[in-house]
Parts: sequence; C-alpha cells; structure tokens
Amino acid sequence: MTYRAPVADILYSLEHVAGFAVAIDAGRFGDLDLDTAEAVIGEAGKFATEALAPLDVVGDREGARCVNGVVTTPTGFRDAYRRWAEAGWAGVTAKPEYGGMGLPHAVAAACNEMWSGASMGFALCPLLGEGAIGALEAYGSDALRATYLSRLVSGEWTGTMNLTEPQSGSDLSAVKTRAERAPDGAYRLTGQKIFITYGEHDMADNIVHLVLARLPDAPPGTRGISLFLAPKFLVKPDGSLGPRNDLRCASIEHKLGIHASPTCVMIYGDAGGATAYLVGEENRGLAAMFVMMNSARLAVGLQGVAIGERALQQALAYARERRQGRSSRGGAGMSPIVEHPDVQRMLLTMKALVQAARGVCCLTAVAIDRSARAPSPEERAAAGERVALLTPIAKAFSTDVGDRVASLGLQVHGGMGYIEETGAAQHLRDARIAAIYEGANGVQAIDLVRRKLPLSGGAAAAREIAGMRAIVAELAERGEAGFGASAERLGEAVDALERATAYLRDALGADLDSALAGASAYLKLFGLALGGACLAKAGLAAQDLAARGDDTQRGRIALARFFAEKLATAAPGLERSIRSGAGALEPYESMLAETA
Ligand SMILES: Cc1cc2nc3c(=O)[nH]c(=O)nc-3n(C[C@H](O)[C@H](O)[C@H](O)COP(=O)(O)OP(=O)(O)OC[C@H]3O[C@@H](n4cnc5c(N)ncnc54)[C@H](O)[C@@H]3O)c2cc1C
Repeated sequence: MTYRAPVADILYSLEHVAGFAVAIDAGRFGDLDLDTAEAVIGEAGKFATEALAPLDVVGDREGARCVNGVVTTPTGFRDAYRRWAEAGWAGVTAKPEYGGMGLPHAVAAACNEMWSGASMGFALCPLLGEGAIGALEAYGSDALRATYLSRLVSGEWTGTMNLTEPQSGSDLSAVKTRAERAPDGAYRLTGQKIFITYGEHDMADNIVHLVLARLPDAPPGTRGISLFLAPKFLVKPDGSLGPRNDLRCASIEHKLGIHASPTCVMIYGDAGGATAYLVGEENRGLAAMFVMMNSARLAVGLQGVAIGERALQQALAYARERRQGRSSRGGAGMSPIVEHPDVQRMLLTMKALVQAARGVCCLTAVAIDRSARAPSPEERAAAGERVALLTPIAKAFSTDVGDRVASLGLQVHGGMGYIEETGAAQHLRDARIAAIYEGANGVQAIDLVRRKLPLSGGAAAAREIAGMRAIVAELAERGEAGFGASAERLGEAVDALERATAYLRDALGADLDSALAGASAYLKLFGLALGGACLAKAGLAAQDLAARGDDTQRGRIALARFFAEKLATAAPGLERSIRSGAGALEPYESMLAETA
C-alpha cells in the first residue's frame, strides 16, 4: 500500500484550525495569497506521493551502508534528493536574498509532514538542513552566510546537527569536544560525536556540520559551550571545494528503524584538528543551537503525525480488504474486518489522534510565523510565548501519537502486521525514534512544566486554556446534535488541565520531585485537551461550511465527537495521577531498589 500525501486534510487544519488563512488575509506574509500557498503545498504533496513514497520500503530494506567511512544511501535516494533540491524545496522558509522562497513556517510544516510520511528516512536529511539554515540566518557572520547559506538553501550542500557525545545526551553540559583558537582566526575541533544523522552520505557535494564544542578557557556547564561550523570539504575563497577537512565518519549504527538514514559516529581532529568557524559568540552556542533545535522539534513532532497518517492509510486499506467473522451488518460470507466495532475503534482512534496532533503542530507553526511577523511587539511577544509553550507539546504529544497509532495500525493487520512484508511493522519501527531524539519526551515534559508553565507568571498557559474554553463554550452554544456530549467531555478535560496546571505551579516551589514525576502525564493531558479543542474547532468550521451548502466536511463533526467522548475522557484520570504524586516518591524508589 503506497502513501498519498494528505494535502486536503493538512490545508483544512492550517486554514480552519490554526488561523493560517486569517494570517494571510491580514497581510502577515506580504503579497502571499492563499492560492499560492495551497499550490506550493499541493506540489510538495505530489513530490511526496510520486517521488518519495516508493523509496520508503527500499530505504528500509537496503538501509544506508558504510564502507571505510564512505556512506552510500539506498537505491534511488541520490536521484530523489537531486530532484528535490532542483525543485527548490531546500529553501521553503529561507530568505529570498539567499535564494529561498521566504514562505511561512506553516507551509514548511505542511511540506515536512508529507515528506516524512512518504519516507522518514529520506526526509531527515532536509529536516537538518532546514535547521542549519535557520541557525546561520540568525547567528552566522556575514562571511559564513556568504559562503554557506546559498549552497544550503539551494540544496547543493546539506547540514547536520552535532550535539550528542557518549557521555552527553540529554545533558549537554557534559559536552567535551574541544575547540582551540587557531592563528588564522578559525578554530580547530577535536573530539567524537555520536548518533549524527546524515553525518556522512553521497547525496550532496559537501556537508556542513554544526558542532557544539568547548574552548579551553570556557566556563563549566552549558554556559561554556560554543557553536561551530565545520564543512566536510573546506571551501576556497572562490567558493569551489578545497581539500577534505580533518573530520570523518567512523561507522554508522545498526538500528530499529529509519534504516535509510545514516546515524554516524563522527571523529573530529585525527590529524591535529578539524577547521571550524564560530557561529554566534564564544560560549553562547546553546542559544544558536536552540534556533536549530526548536525548528527541529516541531519537525520531529510532524514526523509523529506523518507516520501516524501513513499507518492509518495502510490499516484502513487492509481493513477494507481482509475478511473475518460476521459483522452485525450481515451479508453473505465473512465480513470485511472494517465492519467490526473493535476494528472501527482502532481506526477511529488512529484518525482522531493523527488529526489532533496535526492540529497542535499547525498551531505551533502558525504561532512561529506570528512571532516573527505580527505588526505589534506585544502580539509578537505573545506569539513567541505560545511557540515556547507549544513546542514541547507538539514534539512529545505528536511523537507519542505516532508511536501509538503505528502500533494500532499493526494491530489492525493481526498477525500479518507482525510480518515485515505488509510494511505495518516498518511504520512502528520508524515511529519509535521520534519520541527519543530531539530531546527525549520525558525531558520535553520537564521543559514544559519547569520552564514553560511559569512564562509571564503563568499567563501563557492561562491564555491557551482560555482559548480552549472559548471553543468549548461555542460547542455548547451551537447545540449541534452531531457533536453529542463533546462540550461536556471536552469541558471536563479543560477543567482537569486547569486544575493540574495550578497544582503543578504550586508544587514547583514546594515539592519539585513530585511536580516532575507528574510532568509526562501533564504533557499528555495538555495534548489531549488541546488536540480535542483543535478537532472541535475543525468540526465547528465544518458546521459553518455545511450551513453555506458545503456538506463535504461533516465527518469532522463526528471525529471531534469521537475524540471528546472516547479519548479526552482520560483527562480526569491523568489529573488524578499528577496530583497524587505528592510525597509518594520515596516508596517508589525503594521498590526500584528491591528489583535486582
Ligand atoms: C537514530 C538517532 C538519530 C539521532 N540524531 C542525532 C543528531 O543528528 N544529532 C545529535 O546531536 N544527536 C542525535 N541523536 C541523539 C539523540 O538526540 C539522543 O539520543 C537523545 O537526546 C537522548 O540522549 P541519550 O540517548 O544520551 O539518552 P539519555 O540522556 O541517557 O536519557 C536516557 C533516559 O533518561 C531520561 N532522562 C535523561 N535526563 C533526564 C532528566 N534530567 N530528568 C528526567 N529524565 C531524564 C530520558 O528521558 C531518557 O528516557 C540521535 C539519536 C538516534 C538514536
């Protein structure tokens, strides 16, 4: 079963849930009109469906290979990358002065979802390039921008993000890679990085590594980390490629999924030090790296949506074909399993979760655009806080959704799902990493509770909750029978979120460990309430369309109802689990100690 990019669903979510159409009408994107944005997203979807989706299985089966430090990508990847770059896709959000399209992040989010859904193993390479472009636009010197940006934006060269070291994963304060100042004004890097996605490959002429390292006189911890750019091939003053830099790929990892994406051990400075250039200021590298990480976190959240969508498409097609048992609908012989209520439960859960997570990601993308382009400083600041608040939710909620939906997709296939041939297992294997990289989901939850809830004295979270309440109020006011008990159930979820928020804000000062023990449940609760609100908004818009004679979207009302009545009902339980952590950690710890 091949993947079809869900262009119409993504556009609906952007326009009717996330306010993209309103932002365009308000002139936030200069002379960009909705037709043009839709046409670009449509073309990206076409490329995903036609050029990338057929590579997914090949990429999984062949995988990337590494022989003597030379990495070869699976059959078809080089050609697909060349076509992707030639179409200009590397520069969707990049500034026109560097050759980019200068389009909103909302458009990039749509593209990223579809490319990841088509082939997550392929799309990881562009994802990191996009982050590198953002970091250089924000922090690169004029000289670095002149040499590297236009080649990244054209896709001739690709980018990487080198943070992780064996002793430094979630905790970047332990980074040891060493940077020495060199007489020529550049720096020399020595050290080892692990797990570097597309650290070496054969799809582009040069690879631009962004590397976190520490100067000899740097203060300890994260305040002593600097960001450097180290190209695979040094670049001559005329822009042509010079000799190889002193960096290499030692090996690539054998891993559960995303086999096409080479995950590299990178060695810097075998022969005295890799030549590197400072990005931003010395010891301020994390600020620059965060530009990359924030863009990458949303993109990874979208991987969850993407794989979920692909798993859903495949499971639905299978459930329509496979016949077992007899459903209450009767008919001759065995019924297609899609007629059984429990299979419908799985498929509807998949669909509702995917669309809820897509809504959360689209909200985040449009907030990124508002934070950069809203006319007043107050609006930009409020949007910036919304981005900060929603990014960990977009990342962790959506990737947990991807994992759960891929698992449900496998379940729909029964035993055949467990057999590699059907492809359902690949989606589960691919989806799993997204909850780990770009900040493990547990760490995202801690970020949400410790750093994002206190934003503006709690005003950012309060604004988000007020927005959900307004949607619940509208559901209640409209009284459309199709929504069933959505207003009540969603209202209860928002109540639970509000109480849990107040509890955690108090607990942060009084009993930090208890607050942190509830962080993951809180992030899930936030995702459920916000995702439910997104679907309700989509349903309300469908009702408006129906009133204007367009009945094609009415299914969204039923989906919003399903989410509110069947999934958001977990919210009060999550709230109880968050609040009942207080003072209970000690016995938990002793239970772990008893486990040999
Ligand atoms: C396929 C793949 C691709 C990757 N690509 C890249 C890349 O391109 N560039 C790059 O730099 N890195 C990359 N990574 C690394 C990835 O970002 C890290 O694996 C991730 O950040 C987690 O770090 P860790 O593996 O060291 O786990 P650890 O930090 O050891 O964490 C282990 C567990 O402990 C939890 N934990 C850790 N600290 C805390 C805490 N303070 N409080 C509560 N819980 C905590 C985590 O949530 C996790 O569940 C990649 C990894 C993989 C597997």
